[in-house]
Amino acid sequence: MTNNEAKVIPVRVALRCRPLVPKELNEGCECCLTFSPGEPQVIVGTEKAFTYDYVFDPMAEQEEVFTVAVSPLLSGLFKGYHATVLAYGQTGSGKTFSMGGTYTSAQEDQPCVGVIPRVIQRIFQEKDKGGSCDFTLTVSYLEIYNEDILDLLCPSKDKPAISIREDPKEGIKIVGLTERVVRSAQEMVACLELGNSSRTVGSTAMNAESSRSHAIFTITLEQRSDSMVSKLHLVDLAGSERQKKTKAEGDRLKEGISINRGLLALGNVISALGEESKKGTHVPYRDSKVTRLLQDSLGGNSHTLMIACVSPADSNIEETINTLRYADRARKIKNKPIVNMDPRTAETQRLKQCKVDLKKVFLVSGSSRRCKVDLKKVFMASGSSRRCTVDPEKVFMVSSCSSRCKLDLQNVLVTLEDQELKGKVELMKSLQDVILELQVSVASCPIVGEDVTGGFTAHHALRQAQMSKELMELNKVLALKEAFVKKMCQNDSQLEPMQSEHQHNMHSLQASVDSLLKEKEDLVLALQSAKKDTQHAKLSEQRRKRLQELEGQLVEMKKKMTEQSKLLKLKESSVRGVSKLMSEIQSMKSQRVQLMRQLKEDTEKFRVWKSQKDKEVLQLKEKDRKRQYEIMKLERDFQKQANVLRRKTEEAAAANKRLKDALQKRSEVSDKRRDGHGRGMETAASRVKSWLLNEVELLVSTEEARRHLKDLLEDRKILAHDISQLKGQLEAGGRSAAKIRRRTLIISELESKVGQETPISKQVENLETEMGLRSAQIADLQQKVLAADNDSRAKHRWDNINTVVEAKCSLKILMAELVAAKSAAARLESSLKQEQGNLQDLSRTLAEERGVMSTMDVEHQQQRVELEQNHQEKVGPAQHLPHTPPKPAVRGLERALDQALCACKGRCNNKQCRCRKGKTTCGENCQCNHARCRNLEPPGAEVRSMAVCLLLSVC
Ligand code: ADP
Ligand code: MG
Repeated sequence: MTNNEAKVIPVRVALRCRPLVPKELNEGCECCLTFSPGEPQVIVGTEKAFTYDYVFDPMAEQEEVFTVAVSPLLSGLFKGYHATVLAYGQTGSGKTFSMGGTYTSAQEDQPCVGVIPRVIQRIFQEKDKGGSCDFTLTVSYLEIYNEDILDLLCPSKDKPAISIREDPKEGIKIVGLTERVVRSAQEMVACLELGNSSRTVGSTAMNAESSRSHAIFTITLEQRSDSMVSKLHLVDLAGSERQKKTKAEGDRLKEGISINRGLLALGNVISALGEESKKGTHVPYRDSKVTRLLQDSLGGNSHTLMIACVSPADSNIEETINTLRYADRARKIKNKPIVNMDPRTAETQRLKQCKVDLKKVFLVSGSSRRCKVDLKKVFMASGSSRRCTVDPEKVFMVSSCSSRCKLDLQNVLVTLEDQELKGKVELMKSLQDVILELQVSVASCPIVGEDVTGGFTAHHALRQAQMSKELMELNKVLALKEAFVKKMCQNDSQLEPMQSEHQHNMHSLQASVDSLLKEKEDLVLALQSAKKDTQHAKLSEQRRKRLQELEGQLVEMKKKMTEQSKLLKLKESSVRGVSKLMSEIQSMKSQRVQLMRQLKEDTEKFRVWKSQKDKEVLQLKEKDRKRQYEIMKLERDFQKQANVLRRKTEEAAAANKRLKDALQKRSEVSDKRRDGHGRGMETAASRVKSWLLNEVELLVSTEEARRHLKDLLEDRKILAHDISQLKGQLEAGGRSAAKIRRRTLIISELESKVGQETPISKQVENLETEMGLRSAQIADLQQKVLAADNDSRAKHRWDNINTVVEAKCSLKILMAELVAAKSAAARLESSLKQEQGNLQDLSRTLAEERGVMSTMDVEHQQQRVELEQNHQEKVGPAQHLPHTPPKPAVRGLERALDQALCACKGRCNNKQCRCRKGKTTCGENCQCNHARCRNLEPPGAEVRSMAVCLLLSVC
């Protein structure tokens, strides 16, 4: 085929819709695209339809995409035509997936393998079929990021600078780019993997940037036998999503535009090439690197396929529609692919063609003088340089095309984000989480001091009672014993003279016994001698009698002596008993001392423990109070958020209605206008006014509806998250519903106010109903926004103004509206500023008051504990101050004591001193530093503090 035979072939467009990805499913997104079976058509929402060359629904496999859409290009490639496959779409729509931009050889033969690996496989199959010697294959892989070309096949870090040159014969050339000659599919795959890994490293490190870089994998096929060189560009474009902007992000927007210049320029090139109205205008290929590199693929010498990738999720509907429109425009681009000969063969062919063209031109020039001039130029050009372009059509076009094409405003228009509301939703979520956390922790927190303190106190009291009892018993026994010993001692003292008397008696008795015995012996002797002397018989009789008497006396004496010795023995034993008792008493006394010491120690220990516990109790009480306060605050915020939610839902419904009304009014206005035109009833001014105001209303309500749409989508995301969480809990089972952290409220629960108490399954059901409702609202609003935000409407809007009078009228109306809007905004702004000032003042005062309150509270509690301790020390360990709320009189006393117990460590001459703050002087009882205190009571005022103490003891 020759240039002459070049046919005009439009860019082919394949629409590819991926399935919903897990993230979208988790957010409760719904599919907003419908596909007509057997037709290359896709319908957005319910009525907007787009038709392409190929449409692949979410079920389509990679294989199908390749065979149906890409493979015809490859047939052309072998015939010497350049080919290009461009993947276009927002980030995450499946461009890289479709192109195979993450392919590794480990994935070989897997169904998910994308276009590039399949192309490689196919090329080598063809090569093998056609005999290997004829083919030379080279590959290059580059990335365009931030308008810099990066060579993905160059392993060295200091890569040479890459520049683009335009060669009339060979087209666009990239100087300095690595071109690898490959002999096998494995080698080519290795190049792809190398490039992918270089790209992937960048993308994981700088994720945001990767979506803004374009990657071009180029295969050059040289068929020596036919002197043909054809190129296949496989392009994974940057994410096409618009740079979101708010007024504050003006600088970032500029940066975004510069980064995304490629896509912007691509859009302009597509517009310039595709739109009928721009036919013949300048095509801004030179505006960016990517358009320069793809110059031949767009409106040039190439068979081009654009794979427009879209997400089916309704949350992406705006970007999806943009992609669909973009792709629709791309379909209108007409390419003129030619067979690309080897330069020498091509030159011969070109010269032949030149001759034919010139002949033609001669024929044409006969009728026009201007043509002659142009032809002269052409001749001159062809004479001086062999690189002449002998396309008569182009020669004429050069002079006519002058206007630069405008920027595609669509790409610059940025959706306003309502960051504020988003922030509020986030806040609400976090507040709810904190409330639940606090509730759980409060529930699990032991009731302050009850269990622990109660246990220890009871134990201590028991021990004290036991010890006191022991002490009492000991005292009793001791007293008894002492009394007994005393008695014994008394007895002893009485016995003492008796004893000496007894001893004396004993001695005298012994002496009388001895004298009696002597007398007896004497008598016995006298008796014996008297036997012989009868005269003495009478005497002896006397003597015998005396002897008997003496014996009787002796027995009596002996009896007395035994009695006396018995008495003595008794006395000894009693003395022994007394001394034993005395030692017992001694040991008992030491025991008593020990017991008393123990009792004292125990009391001291208990006191320390008690004060420590009291402190802890105080701290816990303080903590509890803070928590209670926080819970209250959170509940208040929660309620506020609930109201916001309710308001938002109502607002969304109102926005929907407003848009609906505006749409209806628009159609009414256009009907009326038609009628008016016919009857000539309406004046131009009122017609333009009603049309213009309606148009403004429509635009404003569309913008509002968009904002509410965003809110609804966000709400649905939270709902879906809650549902999945609840379902997870249901599956886990057994846990109470109260522990589930729901991030959102729903209207039905707000109304019944039983959100947390309903069982999980019921909650899931409620949430699912709510989600269905949101989805319906979303679909409804989207439909309205689509109807209002019609692409062609924006273009034809100004067609309604036909005369200068109408234009003036419009300007007047717009000016009046603008002035009204600006003055209203200024008014609002000033009142907002005022309110903000008031709010700041109020919050400052509140914070101060809170600070004072909390310090006062802490001090009060501390002093109360100290008071209790003091009182306890006075009254004894077994008695405690009752925890009943103080009576007013007592409260007054407490206050007085608070002041009396001022613990200020400073000079007591500032307001920090409690006494001074309470307008009283520091007293005796104050624990403040008396040496430094300047707030001391005047002398004699101690009486007052004593009275206070007295009052306390009475209370
Ligand atoms: P992009 O390159 O456009 O930013 P990706 O190709 O990285 O997007 O795709 C985003 C996600 O969607 C990836 O996880 C990918 O696996 C998945 N995905 C894309 N297209 C399909 C498809 N046709 N089938 C299944 N998953 C897909
Ligand atoms: Mg990608």
